[in-house]
Amino acid sequence: MPGADPREALADVLGALGATLRHHRDLGVAALPLSGDYLLGPEEALAAQERALQGCRKCKLCDGRTTIVFGSGNPRAEFVVIGEGPGADEDAQGLPFVGRAGQLLTRMLEARKVELRRDEVYISNTVKCRPPANRNPEPDELAACAPVLAAQLAALQPKVILALGSVATQALLHTREPIGKLRGRVHPYGSAVLIPTFHPAFLLRNPGEEYKRMAWEDLQLARREYDKRRTR
Ligand code: SF4
Repeated sequence: MPGADPREALADVLGALGATLRHHRDLGVAALPLSGDYLLGPEEALAAQERALQGCRKCKLCDGRTTIVFGSGNPRAEFVVIGEGPGADEDAQGLPFVGRAGQLLTRMLEARKVELRRDEVYISNTVKCRPPANRNPEPDELAACAPVLAAQLAALQPKVILALGSVATQALLHTREPIGKLRGRVHPYGSAVLIPTFHPAFLLRNPGEEYKRMAWEDLQLARREYDKRRTR
């Protein structure tokens, strides 16, 4: 019922569950064979999601891909990095951020006052298949792949999300504001916070030292938020 106290609703649900379990026990049921993603730890949940995604044809990006690039890193990471989509190297190897932009991302994460190792974090993209000629993913492709990213984030339960570039940031925050206006700030994102910054591929195009300084400031901000929020 709209406006009902959620604690009362939860108490009702738990009461009904208790009554059902007692009823089963009275019928002689000694054990319940439970299964489902909601009971899995993050390692198993992510592995199950990746298996289920194989052969996905939910958007037209499936036609040009070699490999689905699901994500990589620590399944227990509370710091998650989300980029735009796989490039040629990622498509060939099946891993995110392994080309030149990936090498720059590694250096950005390891920079002074950020000091995160790649194996401490989890890295993925908004779309899991390579857009042709590295174009931006289109709205229908982002929408088709959004549930995949949502399920990944639900399994990971991050505390800090670093969003790389305008495509990832706008998709995650459901906004059309430019990255220049969104970066430099902490955005609430469920029980996490999202910090946008420039995509390393943009920084590689050498837009100027000012942009690299801003990216470093964003990563330091993300690090400070991580130190405040991390539980592990
Ligand atoms: S981009 Fe996502 S939705 Fe589209 S085919 Fe690949 S995995 Fe499926």
